[in-house]
Amino acid sequence: MSTRRPSRPLNMDAVRTANEAVWNDHPELERRKLTMGKRDYPYRKQWMDEYLKAGGTEAPDEASDTATQCMELGNLAVVVTNAIDANPIEGADVTISGPEDRDGKTDPTGTIEFLDITPGEYFVHGVRVEFGEDSSSAPVAPVTTNVCNLTIPKGCDYLKKPGTVEAPKKNFDGIRGESKLGPGEPGKHKFPGDINETDAVVHEVEVRGRKVKVITPKSGAPKGRHLPSADQVADGLSAVPGKQLDTIKEVVVSPNQNPDDAYWAVQYGIKDFSSAATGGNGGVTFYPKKTPWKQEFVDSTTIHEGGHTYSQELWKNEKEKKEWEEVIKKDKVSPSTYADSSVGEDFSESLVMYSLSKGTQCEAMAKWLYPERYKKLDALFED
Ligand SMILES: [Zn+2]
Repeated sequence: MSTRRPSRPLNMDAVRTANEAVWNDHPELERRKLTMGKRDYPYRKQWMDEYLKAGGTEAPDEASDTATQCMELGNLAVVVTNAIDANPIEGADVTISGPEDRDGKTDPTGTIEFLDITPGEYFVHGVRVEFGEDSSSAPVAPVTTNVCNLTIPKGCDYLKKPGTVEAPKKNFDGIRGESKLGPGEPGKHKFPGDINETDAVVHEVEVRGRKVKVITPKSGAPKGRHLPSADQVADGLSAVPGKQLDTIKEVVVSPNQNPDDAYWAVQYGIKDFSSAATGGNGGVTFYPKKTPWKQEFVDSTTIHEGGHTYSQELWKNEKEKKEWEEVIKKDKVSPSTYADSSVGEDFSESLVMYSLSKGTQCEAMAKWLYPERYKKLDALFED
């Protein structure tokens, strides 16, 4: 893939020469202009070479280069209809001009879609000689992050917009505070999905001056399944920022699957879906997993699920939730793909990113990537 970009303003003669050269070698493009989208990476290297050969110049500034690459692209659909009977017009020539120029013909529904285009204000022009012509302008908002190619400092790989924000144990070790796990006391607890209380072992964890109850089943994990140990939970809690810990009153290690799994299996379309953990209502609940719990997964899960508990409290004030929605709009990227599924997931994933990077060598990069999220979380967590 090519990460180089032409400097601005573009040398339009060189653009035309480079376009012709690439179109000549790649008829499959059907003379379509290249975008910064992933699907055009293979063509962009040749395009840049041709552009430079034809007298164009390359953007020299590494930082702005990175900034423009890590951007969100948008889509614009144009529908052309007959002004008299409102029927769609097929085969109309549509051009859009703005941050980039594209053109094409409408399909039988009178529609043409321009995908992966640079967001901004576009001038739209449509014409079919038999019918006449019309113009309009349309804003294109960013939708998905298609391009993000960054030089991330070593040890900060979790900033590369992964599926979910995860990091090696040593990253979490770096942010862990003190925790003291008290002795296990016999108790009773009604675990998720149970009708009656069963025998439990209850610990108290002292962490960052707070006390959190950890409830584990006396029976341990079901056969062939794994649960985190009370020690692992205590270590996980010690990676959670203090203010967030205030909302986590107890951690339940459940021997049963999440009773809502059947619902989520349908929602996500994954047969036998089983959740690893859930958060909210003053606590975090861990469920049995097919593979052993690694400490770093206990850590990220505690922060993420505890993040739901925290945001639930915080967002009792509607203004706070709105503010987070604004923050999401303003930052160019989100911390993970999973973050994009809802405001709540975004907040929880952002918390993991924030907890991992705050006060480390990754903080500057994280702040650069997620300036608004960082500002807001700094304000929430400052003492
Ligand atoms: Zn979540």
